[in-house]
Formats: sequence, C-alpha cells, structure tokens
Amino acid sequence: MLQPASWDKMAPSCTDGVNSLPGNCVFCEIVEGRRKAAILYEDPEVLAFRDILPQAPTHILIVPKEHVPSAVAVSDPDLWSKLMDVARKLALELGCEDKGYRLVVNSGPQAGQTIPHLHVHLLAGRSFRWPPG
Ligand code: AMP
Ligand code: ZN
Repeated sequence: MLQPASWDKMAPSCTDGVNSLPGNCVFCEIVEGRRKAAILYEDPEVLAFRDILPQAPTHILIVPKEHVPSAVAVSDPDLWSKLMDVARKLALELGCEDKGYRLVVNSGPQAGQTIPHLHVHLLAGRSFRWPPG
C-alpha cells in the first residue's frame, strides 16, 4: 500500500502541466458564476453541470467548488465520498441505475486531462468499450 510520503514524492511529476492557479480556471469560472453552464446539482462543496462537448447522451461533470488541480492533489479523502455520492444521486435521478453508467477521472496529461480542475465524468446512455482508448 502506498504511504502518504510516496504520494508526496509522486505529486510533482504526476501533476506536471496541471498545476494552474484558480484565477484562469474554466471550472472555477463556472463555480463562481462567471461562465455559463447547464447546472444540474449544487451544494456548498460540489457542483455538477453538463459537459459542453458530450461524449454520450448523458455526460455530466462533477467538480469540487474548491480548486483542486487533479486527482493526485486531493488531500482530503472525504472529498471523494462527496463527489461519488453526488454521482450516485445524479445517476439515480437520471434513471441510469439499471442500464449502467461510467465514472471517469482523467488525471494528468497521459490520461487526457485537459482542464486542470478535478472533475468526475458521469457518462451514460450508450454502451462503452473496455479497455478505454
Ligand atoms: P478532461 O479531458 O478529463 O480534463 O475533461 C474536460 C472536460 O471538460 C471535457 O469533456 C470538455 O468537453 C469539458 N469542458 C471544457 N470546457 C467546458 C465548459 N466551459 N463547460 C462544460 N464542459 C467543458
Ligand atoms: Zn479551478
């Protein structure tokens, strides 16, 4: 099992390119209401809105309101519980529970992370292949 010290060592190289500050972050702009989005869920810590370029009939992004650059930068494990709980609630609300849905977190450039603000993709409404591309 990885110890916290290992994560500390990993963090700089694993987050190369995704260390942007909140000031010019697209998702911070949405959180702050400075950029429009189709918001589906909001609570004091989490916001969920529709992806602007949907890859499935249902494609929602679930983000912490606080600017966290990527998965490796999550220092409070409770944040994952909150994000996963919102994903579950949305999946139920949207009727995705029977056919299924996919949750994706891209972290870092090789994973294809393009927005350096942590987000969980909730994808549903079609079949998905495995392994992903
Ligand atoms: P990722 O590649 O995992 O970082 O995912 C970033 C996602 O953000 C992509 O699916 C984009 O289509 C989506 N996206 C980028 N800009 C916006 C925006 N202004 N509103 C909603 N979704 C966006
Ligand atoms: Zn941000």
